[in-house]
Amino acid sequence: MTQPQVAIVTGGATGIGWSIAKELSDHGWEVVVGDLDEQAARRSCGQQSGTHPAHVDVTNLDSVQRLVDGAVRTFDRVDLMVNNAGITHIAPFEDFPTDKWDAVLAVDLKGVLFGMQTAGRQMLANGGGSIVNIASIAAERGTPGRAAYAASKAAVVSLTRTAAVEWASRGVRVNAVGPGYVMTDLIKRLVAAGEVHESDITAAIPTGRFAEPREIAAAVRFLGSQDASYITGQVLYVDGAFMANYGVTSHSKAKGSQPS
Ligand code: NAD
Repeated sequence: MTQPQVAIVTGGATGIGWSIAKELSDHGWEVVVGDLDEQAARRSCGQQSGTHPAHVDVTNLDSVQRLVDGAVRTFDRVDLMVNNAGITHIAPFEDFPTDKWDAVLAVDLKGVLFGMQTAGRQMLANGGGSIVNIASIAAERGTPGRAAYAASKAAVVSLTRTAAVEWASRGVRVNAVGPGYVMTDLIKRLVAAGEVHESDITAAIPTGRFAEPREIAAAVRFLGSQDASYITGQVLYVDGAFMANYGVTSHSKAKGSQPS
């Protein structure tokens, strides 16, 4: 009997992270669901076999090392590391508070670096593996109010390419998935605070709707699996053509009004 593959998902208790954990376990993986909110991870994992809650604070290297060590102790190896944990803060560029800058970069950038380093060392020693980092359309587009978030996500793309090139000959693939807008708690909080407006966002997405979390999860599973064995150093945007769009806010309004 073939052994199940083993994945770690950070920030896996809710939102996109939980959807990734569920998608992988639905396909037979054993998934360690690491989150700052361990209670939430326990609640989610209680509903799904093959998922295992764990505490992690991705801003703390020792904590991330403990997460990876725990997975290796239980399952002998890690085949896939998904660096998903992320936070955001919205403020005008000129007044972006330094403490919020540090807080966002600590989770969204340093947390990804720590996940890549700790899982990467394990995979290199073990002869291979795969890392998928969760980036964002904000890595490539001006995103008002989100200086720290956008800078982190652009840097995550850069870390993805750098590690992919360094580790390509040693069997470790590194890719990123860049979600478009997904209606998770992260976005619900921004909508509730009046920081973003659902209808404005929908109007800017050519498919005319937000992504479902499972649509992001399916891309992560593909990149993390052996089906993607020759894909490394890539960013796959799962965004309903948001990135492909040419500066017109509403595709429906744009009919016949596009400059040639
Ligand atoms: P979410 O707020 O629903 O979930 C984030 C999870 O991360 C939570 O469970 C939270 O407890 C956990 N977390 C926060 N800080 C942590 C830390 N220090 N250590 C460990 N866990 C921590 O967010 P989401 O919308 O599911 O976002 C997941 C990822 O997808 C993030 O990297 C986000 O930037 C990215 N993303 C989201 C969207 C979107 O529209 N929702 C779009 C593009 C990219």
